[in-house]
Amino acid sequence: MVRVRIAPSPSGNLHIGTARTALFNYLFAKKTGGEFVLRIEDTDLERTSQEYVKNIFDSLKALGLNWDEGPDIGGPYGPYSQSERFNLYPEFAKKLLLSGFAYECWCTPEELEAEKELATQNKQAYVYSRKCIGAPRGEGAPAIRFNVSKTQKAFHESSMLTFNDMVKGELTQDTDLIGDFVIMKSNGTPTYNFAVVVDDMLMKISHIIRGEDHISNTFKQILIYEALGEALSAPEFVELYGPPQPLPQFGHLGMILAPDRSKLSKRHGATAVSDFVEHGYLTEALVNFVALLGWSPSDGQEIKSVDEIAADFRISEVSSSNSIFEYDKLNWMNSQYIKKMGIETLKAALRPYLAKYDLNELTDAQYTRLVEITREPLTVLSDITSDAAYFFGAGVELEPEAKDALNGEVLAEFAKQAADWDFDEEALHEKLDGFRAYFKEQGVKPKDTMWALRAAITGRTRGADICAVMAILGKEKVLARVEKAKSQAAL
Ligand code: GLU
Repeated sequence: MVRVRIAPSPSGNLHIGTARTALFNYLFAKKTGGEFVLRIEDTDLERTSQEYVKNIFDSLKALGLNWDEGPDIGGPYGPYSQSERFNLYPEFAKKLLLSGFAYECWCTPEELEAEKELATQNKQAYVYSRKCIGAPRGEGAPAIRFNVSKTQKAFHESSMLTFNDMVKGELTQDTDLIGDFVIMKSNGTPTYNFAVVVDDMLMKISHIIRGEDHISNTFKQILIYEALGEALSAPEFVELYGPPQPLPQFGHLGMILAPDRSKLSKRHGATAVSDFVEHGYLTEALVNFVALLGWSPSDGQEIKSVDEIAADFRISEVSSSNSIFEYDKLNWMNSQYIKKMGIETLKAALRPYLAKYDLNELTDAQYTRLVEITREPLTVLSDITSDAAYFFGAGVELEPEAKDALNGEVLAEFAKQAADWDFDEEALHEKLDGFRAYFKEQGVKPKDTMWALRAAITGRTRGADICAVMAILGKEKVLARVEKAKSQAAL
């Protein structure tokens, strides 16, 4: 049975990179009929906040990446938040102490700092001196360190550790360079590498798909698996946790870089899923875009639903290199998704971005028409806030270009004629045809006539179909705006 997991740390809102990792795990589970587990890695209580936990839940749900087991819905291998599993880690650490795969370390921060200092002075990579192996008990509570070389020797012939990565192929590390790392801090909390292995083992995770920044951790984790394997075969553990799980398969994804090839960060634009959503990116577009960061559809058709992607997804075909997060491409994709939206869905989706206006000024039919005529150029939903500004309120501010486009004669004549017009869209089309023709005879280009009207009515020189705009605004508002613009026009 394939069991995969996403294990975010709630020290920030769900990052788009974590969303991609979640998606690839989800796709792998979908494709293989496996299970997708959500585990919250909140061992670092100082950096954890419930607000971030909620953001992670909400963002994953919004993206449609629903989990089969998790902190909110439980499951057979819970609890699914590490902070609720604190009682588990010490017993496993104790097993490792007893088998000699771990040892207590009494070194003070100052002593460790001095060791590091010395390594820097000697231009050497820092590796812990292991001076606590066999050392007498020190003061206070000890940390617990993992005995790397003892584990390596017990399970391998040389110091070289190799595994076959699902994405990157064979990866090797000289374990002599790893150094005995801490698995339990002196305050009794587990470190990331230890907690993750205990959890992945107990949760029967079969495949671990995550960013390549974890490759160095993977070597440590494989050693911990090997050392713990024995412990988990002990009858008392088998009774509690079932038969031990074989070493999971690992797949490391290339990183997501900003267009300038640096690490994607806030200075490049939004990075949290919720920020993208707030700016008006559709979650369907986000998921589709993120899937293409490392994966390509076999038919070259890039616009695809999650289900279509899942059917076509093969982890072995995921690119092992880094992907560039092209905001322009995301914008294009989002605009494609907006174009495909049903009118009622789009009306509802745009409402929050029109909150600063009084939508009660419009009937439902008028709002529908507004959305129909303004949707075309939308890249993100929030574009509507400025694009539709002139539909609301009594007057408009004239943009400088619009001021230049005003034509007093055109406006005066319009005010005179339009007072008798029926402000129905069809009728307006006809009337404006006549109006343009009238001024054409006077030597005013039809384009300039319309420009002058648009400028007066909307304050802009570009925008939606002007007949529809006038019909939505109604005669009274249109004439009032034209009247005001007349006084601003250079005659
Ligand atoms: N909590 C870790 C992170 O957010 C999980 C890494 C893993 O998948 O093991 O990076």
